Amino acid sequence: PPVVTLEGSRVLVLRSNDRWLAVVGIPLSTKLGPTSVLVNNSPVGFTVVDKQYPTQSLKVAPGKVDLSPEDEKRSSDESARIKAALATYSPNVPSSLRLLQPVPGVRSSSYGSRRIFNNEPRNPHTAMDIAAATGTPIKASADGKVIETGDFFLPGNTVIVDHGEGLMTMYCHLSKIEVKVGDELKRGDELGKVGATGRVTGPHLHWAVALNQTFVDPALFLAPPKPHGKPVPRKAKTT
Ligand code: ZN
Repeated sequence: PPVVTLEGSRVLVLRSNDRWLAVVGIPLSTKLGPTSVLVNNSPVGFTVVDKQYPTQSLKVAPGKVDLSPEDEKRSSDESARIKAALATYSPNVPSSLRLLQPVPGVRSSSYGSRRIFNNEPRNPHTAMDIAAATGTPIKASADGKVIETGDFFLPGNTVIVDHGEGLMTMYCHLSKIEVKVGDELKRGDELGKVGATGRVTGPHLHWAVALNQTFVDPALFLAPPKPHGKPVPRKAKTT
């Protein structure tokens, strides 16, 4: 397979019929317009076009928005640890790009939404929140290896699974972690339970998917939702 990189990060490459296909994660902060990946060190251009996401206003404990210097330090050390895990590149090809929704429940399409915490604008949301009761079992979205777990300040109890070629899934706010670093999981294996640890407004799963160290919209990896008679109320617990 060709080696494809975006700003130095390896990009997932798949065989599709008789050609190679690069699946590139684009950060929400990317400038619109022409950009390029390197394919075996030669630039190949493409264009980033606009996409608008909704704005979401939330009320959370003030101590989890304006952090004390100690909490700020803890939180930034933990983000560095999460970033380092996401930078892992394993050469194994992911078993599928069609992921399993880790818990049943209302899929809030909150990826990309601009967050306003206690009336202050903050970074956009980079995951899907799925409302579920504390204790609901969480299933691995695909075959993979656990590469990080921890009890973090904002994401709460967290598990990161490496599916190969930079495809990662991250599960946050767990009440219980049931795996450890190094465990090999099969799609559907239970890795923990839904909870409300970290910065939350209530129990839910914050489910993130990363490609080339960039969080992308998890909905893109799920089968489209089945058509319903009635629209699903948008009341997912969040953050
Ligand atoms: Zn979330």
